[in-house]
Amino acid sequence: MLGNVTCTCEAEGCDRPLDDESLMIAMRTDAGERRAYECGCGAVTVTVVRP
Ligand SMILES: [Zn+2]
Repeated sequence: MLGNVTCTCEAEGCDRPLDDESLMIAMRTDAGERRAYECGCGAVTVTVVRP
């Protein structure tokens, strides 16, 4: 993770940017904040945001 990069959908051939337009679910854990983005294609990509 290189900090505040824009992430994209991990589904092969999709590459849609995951941003405010994507459905985002945030979960706080001891390791930081995990964000699960649900893309319009149905794939879910999880990222970890360090505190
Ligand atoms: Zn997608």
